[in-house]
Amino acid sequence: MIIDETMDTLRSAFDRAAQKTADAVNRSGAHVQLAKLRSRLNELYRLLGKAEYDAAINGVSSMDEINSLIAEITELRDRYAEINAGIQGGNLPFCPNCGRENASGDAFCAGCGTRLSK
Ligand SMILES: [Zn+2]
Repeated sequence: MIIDETMDTLRSAFDRAAQKTADAVNRSGAHVQLAKLRSRLNELYRLLGKAEYDAAINGVSSMDEINSLIAEITELRDRYAEINAGIQGGNLPFCPNCGRENASGDAFCAGCGTRLSK
């Protein structure tokens, strides 16, 4: 039937468009996470600079504080690279609605129930 074929064509065009939209929205969720990470990293770099400065000026060693700042920075940088790789690879488990990270393969967000792409 012509009408059935037309409907199938429309339906699959619609599915493709919906998938594209979901991917784009999901990508924006990941970009929100990246922006948060960047802002936290900037804060950590600032704190690290201050800790180094205080150590130099006061002659007191604050290596514990400095080491824990460095550890957190390294962790966030790894996380940042991971999310970036997810954007490149199109594998984005972030909820477009609340930004929560979900297990890849989940159909719905565990936080708010929004449908996830892939
Ligand atoms: Zn959510």
